[in-house]
Amino acid sequence: MKEKVQKCLDEMSIKTIELGRKLFETPELGFKEFKTREILIKDLKEAGFEIERTFARTGFSVSLGSGHPHIGLIAELDAIPTLGHPQADLNDQSAAHTCAHSTQCAIMTSVIKALKEVNVTEFDGKITLFFTPAEEFTDMAFRRELISKGEIAYPAGKIQMLHEGIFDDVDLCLHLHAMGNDEYRFASDSHLAGFIYKKFTFVGKASHAAVLPHLGVNALNAFTLFQSAAGMLRETFVDEDKNRFHGIVTEGGQTVNSIPERVVYEGYVRSFNTSNMKLLSDKLTHAAKHCAEALGAECIVEDTPGYLPFKPCHELSLAVEENMLHFCQPKEILHDEKSVAAGDIGDLGLFVPTIQFGYGGVGGVIHGKNMFIEDEERLYIESAKVTAMTVIDLLQHPDKTKRILESFTPQMTKEEYFNYLNSKSMKNSTHY
Ligand SMILES: [Zn+2]
Repeated sequence: MKEKVQKCLDEMSIKTIELGRKLFETPELGFKEFKTREILIKDLKEAGFEIERTFARTGFSVSLGSGHPHIGLIAELDAIPTLGHPQADLNDQSAAHTCAHSTQCAIMTSVIKALKEVNVTEFDGKITLFFTPAEEFTDMAFRRELISKGEIAYPAGKIQMLHEGIFDDVDLCLHLHAMGNDEYRFASDSHLAGFIYKKFTFVGKASHAAVLPHLGVNALNAFTLFQSAAGMLRETFVDEDKNRFHGIVTEGGQTVNSIPERVVYEGYVRSFNTSNMKLLSDKLTHAAKHCAEALGAECIVEDTPGYLPFKPCHELSLAVEENMLHFCQPKEILHDEKSVAAGDIGDLGLFVPTIQFGYGGVGGVIHGKNMFIEDEERLYIESAKVTAMTVIDLLQHPDKTKRILESFTPQMTKEEYFNYLNSKSMKNSTHY
């Protein structure tokens, strides 16, 4: 069957590449992926699929077979703002597919079509392809509005899907993501960091900057003092955790002729270690409040949970690697990468054995205005073959699949997870 599925993917390669191009030219930000959904539904309906479920505003799923093992395939729908990209949507914050999520959708669509074609349902088990919205943590004003209208409860696609119970019946998930690194053909067992989004509002008192500075309290000075303190905290960062603290000033003052009344700094704390990430976040809050106080100002800190660190299921990675080796040498696979990037796949991986393998074929810089699809054949067709062949292995060898499932221990209960998301400090945030 693995031979047959490869042949089938070769035969449909022109259609897959065309679909990929069309999606790449239709970039939409998270929870707005309506045109993208329409393109995909049309393609899947032509291949005889019906929509099984809809969720998280723009998300939907199609499936094959029934029962267990239940294998989830994940394809992300959304684009990211990228100034100056040739395919950017100028009507909505220059949204462009510079993270190549469009390619995930084309690849996974071809995978499920090919699996149907080769009658994978002769084995016991179910395959569900989940099209998931809003992976990029961006466009927050819009998402806040959706939350206040009650359309969604959480600002990221997979978190919302966990909230809706969409993955409850799924045994394991296969996900893939384009790599920025072109030295390797594939990446396996890749980890991601987690992050907390922090917003610091320094509040001082305005007065004439030249005539009455002694009557003001300078919020920009309070922020500057905090930047020094944050820099000093960096020596406490644990190397293995790969902690990062970075951000931008989104409001630097009101007018140059007045002592700044309000300064806003927004940033991320990133880490591979969930408990240290929370500790570090609290240290920064503490430093900001006391730096402000030292100069007679005030600081309001709002935390929003971003994503939790992603830990891949090692046994499942090994199953995928076997199939990568049909297309490359062992040294062409990047192993055990610890990327400080983050994704909401991290939250899903807490509960379900999940992997996100990396595939090449992208040119330029990921998230950059020069990013483009360089090698369509390799990117779309090879990655689809690796995924489809792995699904066949998992269904054909239930014992092996059982061992993979047994090797997995959930890192949190759902209750602990939602308590973390809704915890007191996080609840004061801008989003919840
Ligand atoms: Zn991405």
